[in-house]
Amino acid sequence: MNDAAPAAAPTSRASGLPTPDLDTLIVGAGFAGLYLLHRLRGAGFRARVYEAGGGVGGTWYWNRYPGARCDVESMSYSYQFDEALQQDWEWTERYAVQPDILRYANHVADRFALWPDMRFDTRVAAAHWDEAAGLWRVRLEPAGGAPEWVTARFCIMATGCLSTANLPDIQGRDSFRGATYHTGRWPHEEVDFTGLRVAVIGTGSSAIQSIPAIAKQAAQLTVFQRTANYSVPAQNRPLGAAEVAAVKADYRALREEAKTRFGCFLVDLPRPSALADSPEARTAEFERRWETGGLTFMASYEDLLYDTAANETAADFVRAKIRATVDDPETARKLMPTNVIGCKRLCVDTGYFETYNRPNVRLIDIVERPIRAIVEAGVAIGDADNGGEEIEADAIVFATGFDAMTGTLKRIDIRGRGGLALREAWEAGPRSYLGLAVNGFPNLFTITGPGSPSVLTNMMPSIEQHVEWVSDCIEALRGRGAGVIEAERAAQDAWVAHVNELADASLRSTCSSWYVGANIPGKPRVFMPYIGGYPAYAARCAEIAAAGYEGFAIR
Ligand SMILES: Cc1cc2nc3c(=O)[nH]c(=O)nc-3n(C[C@H](O)[C@H](O)[C@H](O)COP(=O)(O)OP(=O)(O)OC[C@H]3O[C@@H](n4cnc5c(N)ncnc54)[C@H](O)[C@@H]3O)c2cc1C
Repeated sequence: MNDAAPAAAPTSRASGLPTPDLDTLIVGAGFAGLYLLHRLRGAGFRARVYEAGGGVGGTWYWNRYPGARCDVESMSYSYQFDEALQQDWEWTERYAVQPDILRYANHVADRFALWPDMRFDTRVAAAHWDEAAGLWRVRLEPAGGAPEWVTARFCIMATGCLSTANLPDIQGRDSFRGATYHTGRWPHEEVDFTGLRVAVIGTGSSAIQSIPAIAKQAAQLTVFQRTANYSVPAQNRPLGAAEVAAVKADYRALREEAKTRFGCFLVDLPRPSALADSPEARTAEFERRWETGGLTFMASYEDLLYDTAANETAADFVRAKIRATVDDPETARKLMPTNVIGCKRLCVDTGYFETYNRPNVRLIDIVERPIRAIVEAGVAIGDADNGGEEIEADAIVFATGFDAMTGTLKRIDIRGRGGLALREAWEAGPRSYLGLAVNGFPNLFTITGPGSPSVLTNMMPSIEQHVEWVSDCIEALRGRGAGVIEAERAAQDAWVAHVNELADASLRSTCSSWYVGANIPGKPRVFMPYIGGYPAYAARCAEIAAAGYEGFAIR
C-alpha cells in the first residue's frame, strides 16, 4: 500500500491555487456532518461527507445499547436551523430513545436530499496539508476496497467528541468464551440477554442507562464499579399534545432564550448560593429539581461547581436519596459517590438505583476487589489465593466510555504545515483556537473541538453554532478571494490560557473524569472543554468573525 499522497492535483486558476476535487471535505455523518453538508452545499460549495459507519446519525448510529436515550430533552436536543423541520417533527417522549433519534437523523438526510453527497463505510485515515497547492490530500479507506486519495480546499472534522470507544486493557480479555459488547459499538441486530448471566463493566452514563434494561432480561447481572456516580432521575414520560403545541407555538423564542443559558437548554434559573439558603429551603429546592428530573438538578445554585461546601450540600442530598432507595445498606454504601457532584458528567437515569433491589443484580466494587483477569468463564476478581472469586458470565458488556474529545482526531494521521502531526502538536494535551482551528493546520476546522463548550452543553445548538461559524467563514474567504486561513499561534495560546484559567476556577476540573482524559492510560491531564458557557463563547466567536477573523492569518 502506498502511504504517500499523490503529488499532482488538477489545476485551474481560481484564487491562484489549484482546484481540488472538493471545496469542502467533511469527516463524519453525525448531526454535525449532516448540517455541514446541507449548509455548505446551500452556499454553493462542492461538499462531500465521508463516514466510517454504514449510515447517518453518528452517536445514535453506534450507541444502540438497551436503554440508550438522550438526556437533554428531545424538543431541545434537535436542530433549530429549519423552522419547518422543527415544526413537522414529532417527538413522543420527553427524552427520546435511540431508535427515534436515529430515525430523526435519517429523516434529515432524506428531507434535505443529503444522500448523494455522502459516502459510507469509508474511514478517513489521513489528511495531509499540501502547502504549495493550498489544499488537503485526504486518504480514504473504504471497507473492503482499495485506499484512495481525494483533495479538498477545506477539511472539516465532524468526528464527534464521544466516537472512539474505549476498551480497557484487562488481562485475558480475549480469552472469554462468551459474547462481548461495547455500549458504543452495539450490534445492529437485537441482543437478547434473556436467561443469561451478564457482566457489565463500568458505571458511567451508558451503564446507568443500560443496567436497568439488561437487569429486566438477564437471569443474573453483575455490575463491576470502579467509581460510584451521581445520577438523578430523568422523570421521563410521554409528551402531551398540549405541551408540544405550546413549545411549537413559541419555538424560535424558546430556542433564543436557551442560548442565553450556560448549557443552551432551558432550566429554571439557579438561586445564588446553596449556603445562603436554610437547610430546609435548600432541601426543598433540591427536591423540586429532583422531581422535575434531569440535568436541571445541577442548576439549583450558582455556586455548586465553585464552592466545595455548597457542592457538598447537593452531594449529600443525592447520597441520602441513594440510601433511601437501595434496600441493602452495604450495596447502598458502595453506590454512594464521595467525590464532587457534577465533576464527572452527571448521569440521568430511569430506575438505576432501584435496580439494585432486584434479586438477580449484584454490585462489585473493583476498588475493594480489583478485576484480576477476564477468564474463559467470566471475570476473576480479588486475590487468587485470598478471597478471590470467579464470576461466571455468558456475556460481558463493556460500558467503559470513550477516548473523548481528542481520541478520534488523534487516530487520523493529520499533518499540517511542514508535515507537523496533530498527534505531536497535541502530545501534552489539545491546543486549539476556539476549539475550531489549530495553529499549523490551515483550512482545517474541528466541530465541537477541545476548547469549545461542546460536551458541557446541549450539543445540538453547539454543533449548529460551529457549523454556521465555519460555513460563514469559508463564504467570507470566498468573498475576499482568499483561499487559506490559519489560526495564529498567539491567538491560540491566549485562548488556551483562557480555557485553562476558567477550568482551574471550577470544581469540575478537580477529579478524575473523561473531561480531563483520566479514563485513558497515558492521556495528558488537561480539562478539555471550554467551561465559560455557551453565551460567552458564542459571543466571542461572533466578535472574532465581525472583526474580520481576528487571530487568524488569511491569504
Ligand atoms: C450515549 C450517548 C448519549 C448522548 N446523549 C446526549 C444528550 O442527551 N445531549 C447532548 O447534548 N449530547 C449527547 N451526547 C453527545 C453526542 O455525541 C452529541 O450530542 C452528538 O450526537 C454529536 O454529534 P457529532 O456529529 O458531532 O458527532 P458523532 O455523532 O459522534 O458523529 C461523528 C461521526 O464521525 C465518524 N468518524 C469519526 N472518525 C472518522 C474517520 N476517521 N473517518 C470517517 N468517519 C469518522 C464516526 O463514525 C461518527 O459517525 C451523547 C453521547 C453518547 C455517546
